[in-house]
Amino acid sequence: METIAAAATPSGRGGVAIVRVSGPLVPEIATQLLGTLPAPRHATIARWSDATGDALDTGLALYFPAPHSFTGEHVLELHGHGGAVIIEALLERLVQLGARRARPGEFSERAYLNDKMDLAQAEAVADLVDAGSRSAARAALRSLQGEFSARINALREALIALRVQVEAGIDFPEEHLDVAAREALRTRADALVADLQQLLVAASQGRVLTEGLTVVIAGRPNAGKSTLLNRLAGHDAAIVTPIAGTTRDLLREQVTIKGIPFELIDTAGLRAATADAIEEEGMRRARAAITSADHVLFIVDALVDPMATSLAAESPSLPPAVPVTVVYNKIDLVGEVVADVPGLAVSAASGDGFDELRELLASLAGPAQVTGGAFSARARHVEALQRAARHLGLARKHLVRPDPELAAEELRTAQGALGEVVGQLTSDELLGEIFSRFCIGK
Ligand code: GDP
Repeated sequence: METIAAAATPSGRGGVAIVRVSGPLVPEIATQLLGTLPAPRHATIARWSDATGDALDTGLALYFPAPHSFTGEHVLELHGHGGAVIIEALLERLVQLGARRARPGEFSERAYLNDKMDLAQAEAVADLVDAGSRSAARAALRSLQGEFSARINALREALIALRVQVEAGIDFPEEHLDVAAREALRTRADALVADLQQLLVAASQGRVLTEGLTVVIAGRPNAGKSTLLNRLAGHDAAIVTPIAGTTRDLLREQVTIKGIPFELIDTAGLRAATADAIEEEGMRRARAAITSADHVLFIVDALVDPMATSLAAESPSLPPAVPVTVVYNKIDLVGEVVADVPGLAVSAASGDGFDELRELLASLAGPAQVTGGAFSARARHVEALQRAARHLGLARKHLVRPDPELAAEELRTAQGALGEVVGQLTSDELLGEIFSRFCIGK
């Protein structure tokens, strides 16, 4: 195993910067760099120098012998002054002494490989660092402390126990399961399905806190989409003019509403036909964005389109899987909504109705009480849980028929899907993909 080194603190100027070294060469490197190996887990004042003996910096050195460290390997932490030049000089010196520069996420990857944490916990490290709101940070901390993993593992154990029973029935057909025993197995499978569904709800919410919700703002040109986006964003992100077709490309804004991160996408106005090739492309992009959105706000100009005919015209091209909320805008000009189609009434110009709009957006994340107790999760986790639920459902069916061999096979697949979340039986490719998205030094 190579010894790796990287700055654990962000680059730039600061009071203190921390450089972390991890691997088998740490004792040797520390002795050469500092003149002596610091006592384990004691903050020691030290001085480090370059190859010619010129001092690079003075600071604190901390030595964590394996396996009692973040990575499970020998680790040296050097707390020096926070300047880019001296950090770079220290890293160069460490490379001279035999370390190499760490890749993104490599410290966390080693922690995972050395069983210091499972994969969901390692991902939570990144989520905690990247958290954009207090609730996201709380959720990440909960995952980091192992709450999510514990629930996954409890489910896996229950699933394995069920599988053992079902497989025993296959291996010893002479003790063929009687009706009562089969009924008992089905009851257990039902309980597992219910537990898995609960976990899936919590993980879906966790994903929202971690990765945010994508909301597309769509509607006819001039309905007030850009004005609405600007009001939600709290600043002038989009250009607003009375000229139809001002927004031609997608405009993305990251906004936190009631602790939930959103990506709001303003789109080119949708209308039946245009001779303008750029506008045509803008509409194509708008429709593509809608397809992959979590939710669509369809803005209707309550003055020029009181019966919401723009929505009726666009409905056939809206993907059925993406929920749509109709927002009647410019209510300041008309006073009330007359169309039959239910929706929110707002004025993007005055801000009327925006409390309700923010409330609605926040409610897309799910019930508040679960949001409070959520743990961070990712799309990858939700997808694996959905797969586990599907195979568990199939296993349940085969227990009814009954076909124990097929049931056992489905249970095995469901168990594998749960294992992926915590990183049991995870391919190297997936691991590489996950850790490469971390920043260097983590
Ligand atoms: P978009 O093309 O849908 O993005 O629409 P814009 O946001 O560019 O707005 C088009 C025009 O409508 C601009 O002149 C805005 O100032 C005006 N507008 C937008 N929202 C409101 C509103 O709530 N009330 C009034 N009176 N005018 C609005």
